[in-house]
Amino acid sequence: MNRKNFLKTSLSIIGVSIWSESYQNKDYPTSILLGKGNPKLYSTDLPLLKKAGFAFKEMQRAAFKEGIEIEIVSAYRSFDRQKRIWNRKYLANQKMGLIPEENIDKIIEYSTLPGTSRHHWGTDVDLIDGSKIKDGELLLTEKFHGKGPYVKMRKWLEENAVNYGFIRPYTDDINRKGFYYEPWHYSYAPIAIPMLKRYLELNLKSLLSTQDLEGSDHLSPTFLARYREENILGIAKGLKSF
Ligand SMILES: [Zn+2]
Repeated sequence: MNRKNFLKTSLSIIGVSIWSESYQNKDYPTSILLGKGNPKLYSTDLPLLKKAGFAFKEMQRAAFKEGIEIEIVSAYRSFDRQKRIWNRKYLANQKMGLIPEENIDKIIEYSTLPGTSRHHWGTDVDLIDGSKIKDGELLLTEKFHGKGPYVKMRKWLEENAVNYGFIRPYTDDINRKGFYYEPWHYSYAPIAIPMLKRYLELNLKSLLSTQDLEGSDHLSPTFLARYREENILGIAKGLKSF
């Protein structure tokens, strides 16, 4: 049995939860979970935690043999970077006349509240096929379906990414709530699972009371409770198998 089949078989028998078991005693500091730390990344070009970076490289090499050039559009993102994205979107929506509640709901279709992004962890990536022409916005669902340029990559990843530890959190499952379907977004499960487990122990309300976050006055306890259930936990089952 080759390695690929062996991994597939093992995963299907024991389930991906084995990944979290070997890591659950590791300590993930709050600063790292919030994107406020200084994580040791693989490289500037490959801003993932080292272990995730090695797995990514291996996956990239395998895809390359099939004529797919997996390219990272976005990987590790700091709290400050996410805050700039949030504030820019909030102010733009405000200009369009959206009231705060509508504004926040609009942003969280695709973007996270700073401090709650999986991209803070150094385990998550947004991917495209770098061998295709890049025009306009890259991370659009239609580019991964139909006659889109990234269809081949999407199909390859759906079939193979799990063998390298990568799972897509924002699936097109109609029963999943929270963020919209993101065919481009993958999470390195062996680290992201225990990180999420640790993350859920944090007090979201107190962590998000950042003064210079646009709209923060409107993040009610009810909103945050729903956001936790639907957005933070609105992910593929394989990524919350603690
Ligand atoms: Zn993403």
